Amino acid sequence: MASHPFCYTRAMQLNDLLTEHFRLVETQKKALKVLNIATVDDLLFHFPARYEDLGNAKAIRDLERGDNAIVYGVLSGLEIKKTFRSRVAIAKGKITDNTGSIKIMWFNQPYIAKMYPEGSMVRLSGKVTGDKSLYISNPTVREVDRLPSEVDDSLFAKGKATSTGSAIELKDLLYPVYKESRGITSKWMYHAIQKIFQNKVLDQISDPIDSKTLKKYHLPTRKTALVWIHTPKNKRDGEAARKRFAFEEVFFIQLMKQQEKSKNAKKQTLSIKVSESDIKKFVGRFPFELTKSQKKAIDAIVSDLRGNHPMSRLLEGDVGSGKTAVAATTIYSVTMTRPKDQSFGNLQSAYMVPTEILARQHFESFMELFKHLPVSIGLITSSGCKKFPSKINPNLATDISRAQLLKWVAGGEIPILIGTHSLIQKSVKFENLAYVIIDEQHRFGTMQRQKLVRKDDITPHLLSMTATPIPRTLALTVYGDLDLTLLSEMPHGRKPIITEIVTLGSREKTYEAVKKELDAGRQLYVICPRIDEPDPNKLLALNVKSVKAEAKRLKKDIFQKYEISILHSKMKPKEKEEIMNNFLSGDTQILVATSVVEVGVNVPNATVIIIEGAERFGLAQLHQLRGRVIRSNHQAYCYTFADTKAKTSVARLRALKSAKNGFELAEEDLKIRGSGELYGKKQWGLTDIGMEAIKNIKMVEAARSEAHVLIASDPSLKKSPDLRKAVLARAEDLHFE
Ligand code: ADP
Ligand code: MG
Repeated sequence: MASHPFCYTRAMQLNDLLTEHFRLVETQKKALKVLNIATVDDLLFHFPARYEDLGNAKAIRDLERGDNAIVYGVLSGLEIKKTFRSRVAIAKGKITDNTGSIKIMWFNQPYIAKMYPEGSMVRLSGKVTGDKSLYISNPTVREVDRLPSEVDDSLFAKGKATSTGSAIELKDLLYPVYKESRGITSKWMYHAIQKIFQNKVLDQISDPIDSKTLKKYHLPTRKTALVWIHTPKNKRDGEAARKRFAFEEVFFIQLMKQQEKSKNAKKQTLSIKVSESDIKKFVGRFPFELTKSQKKAIDAIVSDLRGNHPMSRLLEGDVGSGKTAVAATTIYSVTMTRPKDQSFGNLQSAYMVPTEILARQHFESFMELFKHLPVSIGLITSSGCKKFPSKINPNLATDISRAQLLKWVAGGEIPILIGTHSLIQKSVKFENLAYVIIDEQHRFGTMQRQKLVRKDDITPHLLSMTATPIPRTLALTVYGDLDLTLLSEMPHGRKPIITEIVTLGSREKTYEAVKKELDAGRQLYVICPRIDEPDPNKLLALNVKSVKAEAKRLKKDIFQKYEISILHSKMKPKEKEEIMNNFLSGDTQILVATSVVEVGVNVPNATVIIIEGAERFGLAQLHQLRGRVIRSNHQAYCYTFADTKAKTSVARLRALKSAKNGFELAEEDLKIRGSGELYGKKQWGLTDIGMEAIKNIKMVEAARSEAHVLIASDPSLKKSPDLRKAVLARAEDLHFE
């Protein structure tokens, strides 16, 4: 039969291309490609995004005025009409189920009449209105593949008469709804999967997880779970299937991560020797008392550094929690150790940061922290290199050639090297590299990180630092190979930042408030979404403020008596450095910048930030930007200027206003945007089901401990070849950035 969508050639195999068994038209082929589905196996593992629960659906006969009703039925008589008086175009028609029919009308959406052919099976939801005769007004429509009354009882639910006399009990019916793409509907997928089931392909599926583990956590086998996830008899089965695949995903990731961890733990490293009293002395020179969290973090790290196997640790702390002090102290403890069999020199540390501005800033604060010690510090960026101290003036740094710096680093004469990506070029070789710190690690790809860490026989200790607020379960999973340390406190005396959402009308008032802060000696960041004047030909761009134009306007109209400068990514490094230095020293009071200042920049006296076009930034980014102004004990202010009324934008800015810290904000963001947006899915390639699992601490812990036991006794999974294969296959889809 030519029109039949499925053609059958030979016994179906899991790895067969769908095109070998299904007759597909071009649009369907394209859609499947978009969905990343090529083989039978791919389709089986394309899980329903959700199930349509018919629990609230009503029989048409039972509809009453005022109901917000959901009905299933067949459309008929759709046509476009103009209303008699107001000449408004409407689409009207009728929906019928096996209990009766009702009129439907859409106002101002005449095109709907053309979208659904006569006889379409649909789900409608809308309000039941009308005086004399009832109708459903402006319902939303979705085509469905079958009506409840036609549903195969054995597959979905027991048909049974209800008290209201409707033909079937709707309560337990579940339709799988898949992620679709133009040309491929849920209906197609449902039928295609039925076909696959009928072809006994499931018999080819073995379970990589052993039955003991499955029993322990009450999980169905892979085969059963596949049937349940696509055609659940009831909610419980559907959930059990999802739970199984969720467990599987976390378990596989844990296995990968613990394998890495156990490999790493066997490597050799350079261990450090440093006395507690030396550390105390170093810490005593900070202009502040360390927080308890900072002290704990330093203890944990130093104790790792003393070991013979390389540390792999993640230091997670909100913006402004003081990660740099932890970095500096632990680097100090490394420089206090002599290289093996040597009575001079120091073990070396590398400190990698994502931007040049940040590298220079860290270089300068390290100069201050190490100036009393006989320790040289190098700076390496793509635009130039520096060394501290200079031979001529021991209080200053000098510019030196890259070749010269690299020679000294390779000779072990520069114990501390701070830099950007330039640090991981092949030409950079260390004589005695013992410790690597990666600041704002989420900015670097995994491969880049590994370049710094993988040295052949000696592996340096690694500290990754991040302000990305991710839930503990997610951290335990995607960073399962790392030990985790949290900086849970902010420095003493920090006042909660005051965040305001400023609309067009209240700008003036805000500027007045800001002037008061400036007059009291504080400084201001103004963040704009773009650098240049907008292109007048691009209508949409017109409202987006540019750094250059805004700086001019502010100088002319608002902040006449203050020094204003601008900063953006297209400037030359030297220029940027000068501007940052002038801002740091207070010579300029206002810095109008793009989000280049987002990462790590530290000017404690700048306590006010205005963010123009705030709706254009993501929540995490806004939080980072706001983090620029909580670096001292002065009251800090963040004004988000937004000329938008869009619901989600406003909701996001409100979340920013009310969230006390990055973790709370991440949770809010998750709620507003749905899972997987902020982190997880895009960032690491986790599936929707995997993201669900992440919300379940018990499951994550179970998967983690099972993986731990397994890897401890069989590090390369030699004894479980199926599992090993499955883990490797999964690893290909994941990317742990
Ligand atoms: P982040 O964790 O965002 O990297 P920084 O290390 O840049 O934070 O620290 C933010 C600011 O707080 C810096 O000015 C730093 O000197 C200061 N700071 C760090 N620790 C403390 C502390 N324990 N008490 C007071 N101020 C501190
Ligand atoms: Mg920092």
